[in-house]
Amino acid sequence: MLDYHLHLWPHSERQTPLGLEQLQAYCEKAQAAGVSELAVTEHLFRFRQADDLLGGFWADERASPGLKASMADYWDFHATADLDDYVTCAQEAKDAGLPVVIGLEVDYYEGRMDEVAGLLACYPFDVLLGSVHWLGAWRFDDLDDPVSMGEWSARQVDACWDTYTGALEELAASGVCDVLAHPDLIKVAGHRPDAPAEWWDRIAEAADSSGMAAEVSSAGWRKPVGEQYPAVPLLERFAARGVPLTTASDAHRVEHVADHAASLRGLLGSVGVEFLQGYRGRQPHAVAVGDQPVALDAAG
Ligand SMILES: [Zn+2]
Ligand SMILES: [Zn+2]
Repeated sequence: MLDYHLHLWPHSERQTPLGLEQLQAYCEKAQAAGVSELAVTEHLFRFRQADDLLGGFWADERASPGLKASMADYWDFHATADLDDYVTCAQEAKDAGLPVVIGLEVDYYEGRMDEVAGLLACYPFDVLLGSVHWLGAWRFDDLDDPVSMGEWSARQVDACWDTYTGALEELAASGVCDVLAHPDLIKVAGHRPDAPAEWWDRIAEAADSSGMAAEVSSAGWRKPVGEQYPAVPLLERFAARGVPLTTASDAHRVEHVADHAASLRGLLGSVGVEFLQGYRGRQPHAVAVGDQPVALDAAG
């Protein structure tokens, strides 16, 4: 098993401490759950380098002033860390023998992905997650922001899924990232279309045609939707097409590392998947799903 989606800092905290102790604790928690390899994948937008490159990207959107102001505040709050220091810390963990690889969670920036790729090429990343959290200036997954959540009542659910899927297709086609993170995140707040098959087909096709892997994430169990990403019918579509998979918790603190690993293992078994895809230097390799770890007390 893998936990290929891990953050160092909660969204609520502006401070961005770095230290090997945190990664050591993540590895211990993961290994106790039978997870053999971890990827540290902080958000690109937590770094000043992203602000220099992309700050104000929301300004020319036809979004409401409220959404734009909310995004400006969010961006300003988050873009405080140094990308060089972050990569150095992850590299030190690797060099110390911890089972971690160096990653990043990258958002989709319409028309800007070549510039994003140029920045990322300066660093020795092992794996890059590609995510759609935002549609223009709208942070549809920011459950704590009343402005963002209010937007759900102003839009049609089908149209939201359509716009989300279009952004995900463009992100996949850009070729900048390796893994589609939480592929059906648009359901996060619990808004689902009556007939989602069309969008599931398109998301599976986007992964398949781009060569990207797809993430199977337990994070949705901690959200209003109350379901892993992807939904079972989308997971079945990935498996039927042979799309490589990773597993992930999307933890932002140690308590959630390897969260629900046993349930994810069961899901993979239910669709006949025995191997996941890990990465080194952005090159894939196979990792066995593996057996359930034996509980320490049962092992005596
Ligand atoms: Zn994400
Ligand atoms: Zn994340």
